[in-house]
Amino acid sequence: MSDDARVYSYSAVLMGSPILLKLFEHNEPLASRVFHLIKQYEDLLTVNRAQSQVMDINHAAGLNPVSVSRSVYALIKCAKAASLVPGGAFNLAIGPLVKRWKIGFKGDSVPPADDIARLLTLTDPHNVVLDDAQSSVFLTRAGMEIDLGAIAKGYIADRVRDYLRQQGVTLGLINLGGNVQTLGSPEGGWSIGLKKPFAQDNALLGAIEVVNKSVVTSGVYERFFELDGRRYHHILDPRTGYPLDNELDSVTIIASESLDCDLWTTLIYGMGVEKGVEALRGRPDIEAIFVTKQREIILSSASHYRFTLLDDDYRLTV
Ligand code: FAD
Ligand code: MG
Ligand code: MG
Repeated sequence: MSDDARVYSYSAVLMGSPILLKLFEHNEPLASRVFHLIKQYEDLLTVNRAQSQVMDINHAAGLNPVSVSRSVYALIKCAKAASLVPGGAFNLAIGPLVKRWKIGFKGDSVPPADDIARLLTLTDPHNVVLDDAQSSVFLTRAGMEIDLGAIAKGYIADRVRDYLRQQGVTLGLINLGGNVQTLGSPEGGWSIGLKKPFAQDNALLGAIEVVNKSVVTSGVYERFFELDGRRYHHILDPRTGYPLDNELDSVTIIASESLDCDLWTTLIYGMGVEKGVEALRGRPDIEAIFVTKQREIILSSASHYRFTLLDDDYRLTV
């Protein structure tokens, strides 16, 4: 299916998410191979089915270590390191709480406080024990569960980018349900829309122009349910076990690797604007766009992309 004379778009639904591939040539077989690759990674990393390498680890919680493929091991090792970043909200062992809340899935509900307190005791990332020699992962307590929902799409977006590059593609874009990774620079660069939180009509707050970068947004408006006038969204605070509650409607990260984008959206979500900007001072390769509930848009820096504001109701601060 073609957008205009030059861009060809291919779509699929995988990982419960709409997937979009844009190429500058008509190449159906390549698009099929990309979707197959995504499916293979989904099969390794999903926790939404009974069987995957991550589920093998989870099923053996409290029992024994499980050896996994090198790539899954490396991703889990990276996720554990991020889980230990002070002040960050990312926790790879958040699984028991994600499963209990079921936010975005059938049967979502607010769990009783004592359930949350009990499940919180099963989310200590120190209890994810790694063995480099065996590529094995051991969850030391029964009931523990790894959940890579916050980062798996980023990891897979990077693998798709690598694969396209290997295949000689110099211009392309992959969007895995909001995880955008780009190759090269079409005329004018790639323009990625920044969504207006809670807009009914897919309205955009701004446009982000990038070359060879990934753009990822985590927001409280993506997956949520409402009960008694309160909104419960899918980014959980590992300190409390409840959805994160701060000044932010969304955080967008721009970086070369989509995995970094994913890790940092969740890390920074927990820090808020001030501490988030502070944390990124030492990382010029990673840039953030904060959208607050007060309708401010704050750029930590904008060295590797260009931002255009498209909504007069919002105030832009750099
Ligand atoms: P992000 O903000 O990047 O991440 C939110 C997700 O991260 C949560 O949904 C939760 O899984 C996890 N999380 C929550 N709090 C934390 C925390 N503090 N630290 C770390 N992680 C946290 N959806 C379906 O509806 N059906 C499916 O079959 C399905 N299969 C999937 C298979 C795979 C391999 C993946 C990666 C996703 C799948 N999904 C599926 C989507 C998934 O359930 C999440 O909705 C999605 O990964 C959230 O990503 P995001 O970028 O929108 O949000
Ligand atoms: Mg994500
Ligand atoms: Mg997202």
